[in-house]
Amino acid sequence: MSNIKSVCVYCGSSPGNDLAYAEAGEQLGAALAAAGMKLIYGGGTTGIMGAVSRGVLENGGEVGAIIPSFLVGRETTKAALTMFTDVTVTETMHERKHQMFERSDAFVALPGGIGTIEEIVEIMTWSQLGQHRKPMVFANVKGFWNPMIAMLDHVGSAGFIHTASLMRPLVVDRVDDIIPTIVNAIVKDDEGNPSVMAKM
Ligand code: AMP
Repeated sequence: MSNIKSVCVYCGSSPGNDLAYAEAGEQLGAALAAAGMKLIYGGGTTGIMGAVSRGVLENGGEVGAIIPSFLVGRETTKAALTMFTDVTVTETMHERKHQMFERSDAFVALPGGIGTIEEIVEIMTWSQLGQHRKPMVFANVKGFWNPMIAMLDHVGSAGFIHTASLMRPLVVDRVDDIIPTIVNAIVKDDEGNPSVMAKM
C-alpha cells in the first residue's frame, strides 16, 4: 500500500497536434483512479487537462480541481465543475499553484505549453531550495520533454545547478510506468510517512 494519496498533474489546456498527448492524459487519469490516487489539477476541461480529468472520472476516481475565478468560463464551465469531487476557486494564480503544491504528494508534467512549463519549473526550483522532496516526473510522451531535459543537462553541465541531488526530476517514457516510478521514488521519514520537508 502506497503512501501517495494525491498526484498533481500539470498539462496543456490545448490538445497539441498529436493525439498521443490526449491519449496519454486519459491513460494517466485511468491509472490514477485504479491506484486510488486523487488527481489534483487546475480544473480545466479543455485539451490535455480535460483528457486527464475525464480519464479519472470515467474510471470512478477522485478529482480535486483548483481554479482561479477569472478562468471559470475560459478553461472550464460552472456546470463542468460539478463533476469533480471537490472544487476550490481561488482569487489568484499564485494561490492556485500554492494549493496544488500543498495538496499533492507528487507532480507529473504531461505535454503542455507555457503554463505547464512554468508550473513544473517552479516545483523544481522549490525542490532545489530544499522546500520539498516530493517526486517530480516528466511524462516524456513521444519524447515531448527531450528539449527540456537537454536544457536541464546543459544548465547542470554549465555549473548552474546547485544541490543537484535535490533537483532530480524523473523522466518516464511509458504512461504505465508513471505511478510505479512515483511510488518507488517517495522519500519516507522514520515513521514511513512521505517526507515533504518544510512547507512553502
Ligand atoms: P498551458 O500549458 O499554457 O496550456 O497551461 C496549462 C495550465 O497552466 C492552465 O490551467 C493555465 O491556466 C495554467 N497557467 C498558465 N499560465 C500559468 C502561469 N504563469 N503559472 C501557472 N499556471 C499557469
